[in-house]
Amino acid sequence: MVFFITSYLTVLMPAISAQDKEVWHGKKCAVCLTYDDALNVDLDNVIPILDSLGFTGTFYLPVSFPGFSERLSEWKDVAKKGNELGNHTLYHPCAGKAPGMEWVKPDYDLNNYTMQRLLDEIKMANIVLKAIDGKSERTFAYPCGDTTVGDSSYVSKIREEFVAARGVEGKMQRIEEIDLYNIGAYGINGQSGDELVRLVKEAIEDKALLVFLFHGVGGEHSLNVSLEAHSKLLHFLKQNEKDIWVAPLVKIAKYIKEYKQVNK
Ligand SMILES: [Zn+2]
Repeated sequence: MVFFITSYLTVLMPAISAQDKEVWHGKKCAVCLTYDDALNVDLDNVIPILDSLGFTGTFYLPVSFPGFSERLSEWKDVAKKGNELGNHTLYHPCAGKAPGMEWVKPDYDLNNYTMQRLLDEIKMANIVLKAIDGKSERTFAYPCGDTTVGDSSYVSKIREEFVAARGVEGKMQRIEEIDLYNIGAYGINGQSGDELVRLVKEAIEDKALLVFLFHGVGGEHSLNVSLEAHSKLLHFLKQNEKDIWVAPLVKIAKYIKEYKQVNK
């Protein structure tokens, strides 16, 4: 009888743990590091630490911004290393009438856009990015998280252009819950390293996808994280690599698509 129970368990156990492991590329959770708005700190502060730890991330680039347009050859190298150059439009149009949005210039206020103008801008940004990285597949990030032109949503109109799109809602989700065209992300502003690590621990616990949304890293933007906190997060990811899949969003989104195909 004892023999029977033991062999029964040995047959069952590998099956259970294999299924468990397969959720995120063989790991417990997925973490995506995203950096918005083509800031100089992306190239000067972020890329060196990503390189040193062997990580890659997604950079959402409004391609008219000088941090991109004046440093094209460096962005080419960033792409060559496996990082994703994500589409963040040409001019970063946002709805300017809401409180706190006074910085939006009238020419780039979504309230003054037509749908066609926005879609043209997004397509043109894809052409520019393809000229830099040679890629036809990438993800998009909604500038300011805005998803409408006037009263019309543009979410369904960009589906064919992108593998997925990142929103700004602070949520982490399990693989089966994810809407690829509104992927949640935690906007980071002033959190400590411990607070960032706590989010990752939660993602491991929940077997979730966790997307970080950074602007300034060690300065250059009013939404900012210190170099210390950012470094603490990355070192935690490195130390726990066996449980955490760190990848650009385009890779993770393609994986989610395939997973949903197989498991529907
Ligand atoms: Zn932005």
